[in-house]
Amino acid sequence: MPNSLLIENGTVLTLGKNSKVLAGQSVLIKDGLIAKVAPKKAINNFRGQRMDATGKVVLPGFINAHTHFYSSFARGLTKAKPAKDFNQVLKNLWWRLDSALTAEDCYYSALIALLGSVRHGTTALVDHHASPQAVPGSLAAIARAVRETGLRACLCYELSDRDGAAIAKQGLAENAWFIHHCQQQKDARVKALFGLHASFTISDATMEKAAALGHELRTGFHLHVAEAQRDQDWALRHSGKRVVERLKQFEILGPRSIAAHCIHVNRREMDLLAETQTAVVHNPQSNMNNAVGVANVIELVKRGVLVGLGTDAMTTNMLEELRVALWGQHLRAENPSGGFGEVTSALFANNPKIAQRIFGLRFGEICEGAAGDLAIFDYDPPTPLDNTNVLGHVVFGISQAEADTTIVGGRVLMEDRKLTLNLDEARINSRARELARNLWKRM
Ligand SMILES: [Zn+2]
Repeated sequence: MPNSLLIENGTVLTLGKNSKVLAGQSVLIKDGLIAKVAPKKAINNFRGQRMDATGKVVLPGFINAHTHFYSSFARGLTKAKPAKDFNQVLKNLWWRLDSALTAEDCYYSALIALLGSVRHGTTALVDHHASPQAVPGSLAAIARAVRETGLRACLCYELSDRDGAAIAKQGLAENAWFIHHCQQQKDARVKALFGLHASFTISDATMEKAAALGHELRTGFHLHVAEAQRDQDWALRHSGKRVVERLKQFEILGPRSIAAHCIHVNRREMDLLAETQTAVVHNPQSNMNNAVGVANVIELVKRGVLVGLGTDAMTTNMLEELRVALWGQHLRAENPSGGFGEVTSALFANNPKIAQRIFGLRFGEICEGAAGDLAIFDYDPPTPLDNTNVLGHVVFGISQAEADTTIVGGRVLMEDRKLTLNLDEARINSRARELARNLWKRM
């Protein structure tokens, strides 16, 4: 792998705090980090890999802060009964699907999701995995797929009591093993959190064990929080506490933890999430699809919560998710400009902060010292593009273009829309189709 790459003569959208449009600039990546951003002539005597970005825009790679690789094999599945509510979505579809997954399914479904991410300029992902009949080794299989695609990913296993005590025990062990493994490997691309499915599928005894293990391993937790009202109803019935209060009691919250969804949280819970610096990840397409509501992103941000953006496996295209997040907040607030800053910051400022907590690198900005993770688009703006309207071009223009090139830590994963990986995409799709067909039969 070359340790330096020069991307020449592109239009650089730096994003970050001092977001700027820099025309005719070159970006030098050395040893995985951005070493220089300067006009072409200013970088002399370069000996290494070069790439011409003339006529293209160069952005920081996108981050997906909550997804499920295993959902890849649900594409086109017609066997699930139509669901009347979220409970039936879980029972008729996801819990039947994940219970039929094998370790090979985990590997291939991850490859499919990861390659889709490469194709859309997504460079880092936070996954939440379940395969109750194939728990041990599932995270190692997914990590192999991550390493083969060259992306960054943070993995965990969705611990739950829904399949009985023996499988819950395996879930605890799989998380602990993988966290320990990542801490030893020190791989800049593969990291771990302690995964929990959701409050309503975890007993006090299991929650206590998970908390103790997670604290001993000095890690954060990743779980679904108040995705549907049912999570709150169960918590109140079971513990007399609301979901976020119950999680606080077990010390599951904190700056390294991720709470996905947080639709049905009240203001007291929002304050607890802010006080504990827990990251909340908003997944609007999934929430609309499941008809569970629209998170109040504007209020969460107002109360000081760090809100990021995820796709919950609905897409691998972060700009598609960004657009839906915007329309959702507009509609929720009945205000055509409501939430623009909150939602664009979720993707471009807060996802980088969440990723920094996990990977220990600076993301989301093209500047010296940041990770060499870039997305390049073949985009010739038909209207003026300058420092004042970058986000307008991202939402209404670049989102409609196809990603051209994807780079992680200076390694080129796709160039001119062709994968540059040592992977045979046609063979992967063919094997995935076979596996998916068998999986659907088993369901
Ligand atoms: Zn999810």
